[in-house]
Amino acid sequence: MRRASALCIAPGRTTKLAALSLAMTFLFGIHVPTVQAGFPQTIFLDYDTFTDTGADPDDHVYSAGERTIIADTLNDKFAEYPVTFTNTAPTSGLFSTVFFNAGLGSGDIDFQNKKMSDTATLHAPKLLEIAGVPIGTATSTEVVAASINIGAHESLHILGTRHHDAFLPIGTGVSPGTGGSDWVPDFPGPEGAFLTGKEFNSLTASLGLFSYSSLTDPDMFIGPRSAVKLLHDTFVDLDVDSTDANVIFAPQPLSFETIPIPNPLPPSDPFSGLEIFADVVIVEEASIEMLFDTGGTPLGPESDYYGIDAAAGDVITIEVISELGDGDPFDTVVALLDPTTGFSPVPWYTDGALNNDERESTDSLLLDVTIPADGSYVIEVFSSAGPDMFGDYEMLVYRFHAIPEPSTLVLAAFALPFIAALARRRRKR
Ligand SMILES: [Zn+2]
Repeated sequence: MRRASALCIAPGRTTKLAALSLAMTFLFGIHVPTVQAGFPQTIFLDYDTFTDTGADPDDHVYSAGERTIIADTLNDKFAEYPVTFTNTAPTSGLFSTVFFNAGLGSGDIDFQNKKMSDTATLHAPKLLEIAGVPIGTATSTEVVAASINIGAHESLHILGTRHHDAFLPIGTGVSPGTGGSDWVPDFPGPEGAFLTGKEFNSLTASLGLFSYSSLTDPDMFIGPRSAVKLLHDTFVDLDVDSTDANVIFAPQPLSFETIPIPNPLPPSDPFSGLEIFADVVIVEEASIEMLFDTGGTPLGPESDYYGIDAAAGDVITIEVISELGDGDPFDTVVALLDPTTGFSPVPWYTDGALNNDERESTDSLLLDVTIPADGSYVIEVFSSAGPDMFGDYEMLVYRFHAIPEPSTLVLAAFALPFIAALARRRRKR
């Protein structure tokens, strides 16, 4: 079993979200915010517990000024998400903790942020040493920059994101050197995701993108795939429970809900400057169980089937989480099937849309499948069998779409103040 790399080198504030969603409600009939379980999340930045102020030359003793810059910058980077970083230990309520001068850099992936008091670690001087800066020679600026970027990376993990959420732009495949036989079966798409190294989740040896320049890059951002995981539950509860539909002709219908997504993407991204929306659905409480015939004879592990409607050109991602989930793990497989072709997998670059293992675990990922024609499609989740044939999983399905800048829209007069506020905030980034 392949685990996520232990070497990771290897969710802003409700008021802003409320304003954003209010504007969207007026304009597009999208949901009024109702913050769900798991958010808002407070993250305490603990610089002291693991810091050796005496003999250990590896540790960095953070000054008050450095702490202020780190917390302020992290709060700015997460400003559009229901996440707040603090340098003072909260005296009440649940909070997660990032420990500095501890470990190297790690945080357990907590899909949907179910654990609101989990922890992550990072050691900026040791990470800088791996990037070529000998221990004891890093400047304050370098330590602060690395603390911010790895602090964001590990915080994103404990909020639910994974390294593959860095693959950008949408629809360009994976980053160089991370396709092919890293996946099971081989990833059939290009290695053209040239913006991957600007997304916080890319700061890992696993993607080959850990370097001095990325570690100290002030322009790293939270991309749209990560945004879906941080925001999916912020506006309404988008989750549906699996009905355990195991007949391919009668899949459980899934309905997308639409949420607005912050857009920090640079000009080289096709989505740059646009208002982005994500259509999202999450399946919970799902499991693969034994299938029996009508006489009660066991037939082996079932398949679960889900139905989605999609339009030609939609670019859909389907992620199945089990090994790195919080239930009984098993080795999942996912496929996207076309009923008009006898339920064969829809085309996915040079192959069909079926994935057993993504790069870092036995979980399954169909990254950016382009829908060939308007119609209904069937998602099949099944077991790769072996000793762990049965178990629990969750599934995330999303696609993005965009509209032009608000200034090019014909707006109702009452919505203008809200749109103006949106535009101001975007320019600020
Ligand atoms: Zn990581």
